Amino acid sequence: MPNMSLKKLPAREQDPNVRNKNFLEVSQGYDEAMAMEEASRCLNCKHRPCVSGCPVNVRIPEFIKLVAEGKFLEAYDVITSTNALPAICGRVCPQETQCESKCVRGIKGDPVGIGRLERFVADYAMQHGVAGPKEEIPSNGKKVAVVGSGPAGLTCAGDLRKLGYDVTVFEALHTPGGVLVYGIPEFRLPKALVRREISKLEEMGVSIKTDMVIGRCISLDELMSEEGYDAIFVGSGAGLPRFQNIPGENLCGVYSANEFLTRINLMKAYSFPETDTPIKVGKCAAVVGGGNVAMDAARCAKRLGAETVYIVYRRSEKEMPARVEEIEHAKEEGIIFKLLTNPTEIHGDENGFVKAMTCVEMELGEPDASGRRRPVVKKGSEHTIDVQTVVIAIGNSPNPLIKDTTPGLECQSWGGIIADEETGKTSKPFVYAGGDAVTGAATVILAMGAGKKAAAAIHEELSK
Ligand SMILES: Cc1cc2nc3c(=O)[nH]c(=O)nc-3n(C[C@H](O)[C@H](O)[C@H](O)COP(=O)(O)OP(=O)(O)OC[C@H]3O[C@@H](n4cnc5c(N)ncnc54)[C@H](O)[C@@H]3O)c2cc1C
Ligand code: SF4
Repeated sequence: MPNMSLKKLPAREQDPNVRNKNFLEVSQGYDEAMAMEEASRCLNCKHRPCVSGCPVNVRIPEFIKLVAEGKFLEAYDVITSTNALPAICGRVCPQETQCESKCVRGIKGDPVGIGRLERFVADYAMQHGVAGPKEEIPSNGKKVAVVGSGPAGLTCAGDLRKLGYDVTVFEALHTPGGVLVYGIPEFRLPKALVRREISKLEEMGVSIKTDMVIGRCISLDELMSEEGYDAIFVGSGAGLPRFQNIPGENLCGVYSANEFLTRINLMKAYSFPETDTPIKVGKCAAVVGGGNVAMDAARCAKRLGAETVYIVYRRSEKEMPARVEEIEHAKEEGIIFKLLTNPTEIHGDENGFVKAMTCVEMELGEPDASGRRRPVVKKGSEHTIDVQTVVIAIGNSPNPLIKDTTPGLECQSWGGIIADEETGKTSKPFVYAGGDAVTGAATVILAMGAGKKAAAAIHEELSK
C-alpha cells in the first residue's frame, strides 16, 4: 500500500542563522529511511505523467519503486540510463515546474519529492563507490569537438563517447563545469561533487582541454580543417552580463553577478588570503534582480559578512523568476526584499567607491511582451539607500566571440546561435549548438536535454 501522507518529507537542512555564515551545503538531503518513506508515496502511475515533465525523460516511477524497496544502486542505474549528472540535477533542477508539477500526488497535497530522491540515489551511489564506466569503449575513429564544458557540452560529450567517438571538450576557463562551477554557489552545489561527475566522463575517455578560448586560440573552421574534427557541438553558454545603464555603474564596488559569483565560487574569494582573489562587500550590499542568480549573489554577500543585504527588484514577488525554494531560503537567511523598486543612480565617494544608491518605487501596469505586468515609476518615490556593494543580476546574453569568428554561423540579433530545436543543427555544416548559447540563460536540465539531442543528431549524420 502506498503511503498516503499529503506532505512531502522535508529534507534535513542547516539552521538559517548558522548557514548564513558558512559556505557549506544548505540541504543535507534524505537518509536511507527517509528516502524509502518518501518513495513509498509514489503511486507508480502507469501513464507516467512525471516523466513527460522531465527534459531528459528520467524513468521516474521505475527508479522510485526501487528506492522504496531499498534497491538504491539499481535505482542509480535506472536514472543514469538517461541522465549523466543526477547528483547535480537532484540539487538544482526546478522540479516544481517540471516533473513534480505533473505528479498526480500534487493534485491533492504535495507532489512526490522526485528531486530529493534523485539526489539521494546519486549521493548514495557515489558514497558506495559506484561511478565510472564498467568497460573501455572502443573508438569508432571519428572525432568530435565540444566547445564549452557546462551541462550542455558535458552531456553531449558523454553521450558521444558512449557511442565510440573521440571527444575533446575545449573550455575557456581553467576549470571545467561552466555555471556549475563558476556561478552556482558551493552552498547549493558542492564543487567536489561536480568534479566527481566530470571525472566520470574523463574515465570514460572524454578529453578536456582547459584554457582554450575557441575563437581566439583556434577557430571552429580550423578545428575541422586543421585538427580533423568531423563535427563540432557549441555549448558556450550565455556568459555576457547585462547592465542597467544607469549613472555610477563603473564605480568600484559595482559588480556584474558573473564577476561577483566567479570570484567567490571559482576563485574561492571567501577563503582569501589563503586564496589569491579578494572580495569586499562592506556593511551593506544591494543585489539588483529577481532570478536565481540574484538570490545566489545576495546569499553569498550575506555569508561574506554584510550586515544588510537587499534584493532590489522592480516587480512583485509573484513575478520573480527565481525558484520558490531559493526565495524562501534567502528570506530565512535574513535577505531584505525591496520589491517594486528600481535603481536609478549609484553614487561614489571621493575615491570612486560606491557609497549609496538612489531608487524609485514602481507600480505594476498592463502586461508587457513577456506576459508579466509592466512596472511603472511611482511619482515622488525617489529615495537613497547607503550601500558599499552593488551587484547587477538582471540577465546574461551569449558571448559574441564564436559568432564573430565563425563565418556562415547564423545568429539571432541578441546573439543566440540559431539551431534546430530537435537536433541542434546550425546553418553551418557539421556544426551543432545547444544550451544557453542557443536559448539565452535557461536551466541546467534544458541545456543537458539540448546536448543529448545534438549528440544523437551528430551520430546520425556521421553514421551516414
Ligand atoms: C548563478 C546562477 C545560478 C543558476 N541556478 C540555476 C538553478 O538553480 N537551476 C538551474 O536549472 N539553472 C540554474 N542556472 C542556469 C544554468 O546554470 C544554465 O542554464 C546552464 O548552466 C547552461 O548550461 P550551458 O552548458 O549551456 O552553459 P554554461 O554552463 O554557461 O557553460 C558554458 C561553458 O562554455 C565556456 N565557453 C564560453 N565561450 C567559450 C569559448 N569561446 N571557448 C571555449 N569555452 C567557452 C564557458 O566558460 C562555460 O564554461 C543558474 C545560472 C547562474 C549563472
Ligand atoms: S506522477 Fe507522481 S505518483 Fe505518479 S509515478 Fe510519477 S512520481 Fe509517482
